[in-house]
Amino acid sequence: MSAVGATGAAAGAATSPTGSVGPAGPTVGVLALQGDVRNHLTLLSGLGAGGVEVRTPEQLDAVDGLIIPGGESTTISLLLQTSGLLEPLRKRLADGMPTFGTCAGMILLAADISDGRPDQLQLDAIDIGVRRNAFGRQVDSFETDLDVAGVEGGPLHAVFIRAPLVERIGDGVEVLATVVTPSGVSMPVVCRQGSILVAAFHPELAGDGRLHQVFLQRFTDESS
Ligand code: GLN
Repeated sequence: MSAVGATGAAAGAATSPTGSVGPAGPTVGVLALQGDVRNHLTLLSGLGAGGVEVRTPEQLDAVDGLIIPGGESTTISLLLQTSGLLEPLRKRLADGMPTFGTCAGMILLAADISDGRPDQLQLDAIDIGVRRNAFGRQVDSFETDLDVAGVEGGPLHAVFIRAPLVERIGDGVEVLATVVTPSGVSMPVVCRQGSILVAAFHPELAGDGRLHQVFLQRFTDESS
């Protein structure tokens, strides 16, 4: 695995409201209110992207990009409001902060949510419609090998846990990977629009940082 975030290509390149990405590469935060924070932090440090926990508006100010992890989107939604992070996060998203949402993180970043709680917030950062817990009780968790556009070196092992399905794709949203559902329909599970990347599964659980590298590529691309 190469250390994308540590390459010189990211040096002094992208800018954020908090300043330039330094020579050591971007500082990517993991929203640490609930969910699988630790495995993302481990992968980010392995990729030279200086993973740090984000629990406060001050910590959000200090990062160049953010991962919103899998967990429980209704809980993260509530904690975003009580932590005071909601408005600062909306602002950073509107300013184009590169953000990677996995599972619950994908649900939060979506424009529309089906089967959400009535008080569940939407960050409306990527023009997709998602359905929570869409795989149903019998197959609510499964693992599969996925070909993902932009991920080299063979399929990515993907762990789906009470995963959402993407039911609507807006104009300008790229689909990077799909799975065939139990009813035989091919549905998107990795999507990208501008600075936002989302995956319906938990890429951090397989210990494979290649999808994180696709996300970190965003900082390199901004420099070109
Ligand atoms: N079903 C969860 C939710 O609604 C997401 C599950 C996950 O992140 N593994 O937030």
